[in-house]
Amino acid sequence: MSMLSARIHVYQKPLVVEKVPKPRAKGPGVVVKVGAAGLCHSDLHLIAGEWKDSIPLRLPLAPGHEIAGYVEELGEDVPGGLFKVGDLVAVFGGWGCGVCHVCKLGDEQSCPKAKWPGISQDGGYAQYVSVPSYRFLIKADGRLSAEELAPLTDAGLTPYRAIRRFRHMLVPGTSVAVVGIGGLGSYGVQYARFFGPASTVMAIDRNEKKLDLAKKFGADRTFPISDELRAQVMDATGGRGVDLVLDCAGAENTISASAGILAKGGVLAIVGLFGSMIKVPLMPAVINENTITGSLWGNYNELAEVIELARQGKVKHSLAPFKLEDINGAIDQLKAGKIAGRAVITPN
Ligand SMILES: [Zn+2]
Ligand SMILES: [Zn+2]
Repeated sequence: MSMLSARIHVYQKPLVVEKVPKPRAKGPGVVVKVGAAGLCHSDLHLIAGEWKDSIPLRLPLAPGHEIAGYVEELGEDVPGGLFKVGDLVAVFGGWGCGVCHVCKLGDEQSCPKAKWPGISQDGGYAQYVSVPSYRFLIKADGRLSAEELAPLTDAGLTPYRAIRRFRHMLVPGTSVAVVGIGGLGSYGVQYARFFGPASTVMAIDRNEKKLDLAKKFGADRTFPISDELRAQVMDATGGRGVDLVLDCAGAENTISASAGILAKGGVLAIVGLFGSMIKVPLMPAVINENTITGSLWGNYNELAEVIELARQGKVKHSLAPFKLEDINGAIDQLKAGKIAGRAVITPN
């Protein structure tokens, strides 16, 4: 049996859409028929070979780490009664060893031995994907489509973990800003609204269309990235600054913009990976006792929470579906910053 797959053969070249053998389920593994796979900025870095020293890939490889679909085949060691063929599932993407200290704390995405679909092995840009264990699946009900579900496993999960961790700060009268309204930021604005119902939610981006989307998703104020950003934000917060800033871009210019608008005691959480260095002026960071932290993906339980929120209709989606055959066009559009929300590949 064969299937269609879109694979990197050579870095910096278009993906090759081609026939490859369909995977089979073994042991605790499960084969999932891909309903949708989200296209992430990380894929652009992978395809461009920018991460080849820190994350070497075995080419050819199908990327795609945001996956939802239907159970196709269960390995012989999957306990009975948990899943059945045809179940709609989200694939949790951080495949930890399951036994180390970090995994036992629940953060398998941070396991030193973690593996990822679309990075350590073929991912979701194919008609079927092999998931090494049933432990990495979350069953969803029919209220959500596979297209809605797939981006929740990364774009919709990463900002959730970052904001959830500092939700105690979002008391009435505080403010929270999301910088970079791409795939992650479009969800980030909604979690800021959800965890800070009486906080002022701000969205910051260079693209007007994305700021409009942020407004639709609950932002009170929107600001373009400019030299006046700091002055405008200080004005909007009565000179106080922003208590929690979520930087979904992580570019050098957004990090300095983000750090520049922090309130006393403010926290800058960085989830985007555009740049390579964090450069922040020392004096204000010390005087204002700012915290600067990274946040990686999210854990299994947090993904279950995100899916539950979405099931209750509390997460809005902005999706641009593409067929597997059109994946290189989708990649070009993402590169050009033309996608407001998330592009999802639908291979079946
Ligand atoms: Zn990603
Ligand atoms: Zn582990």
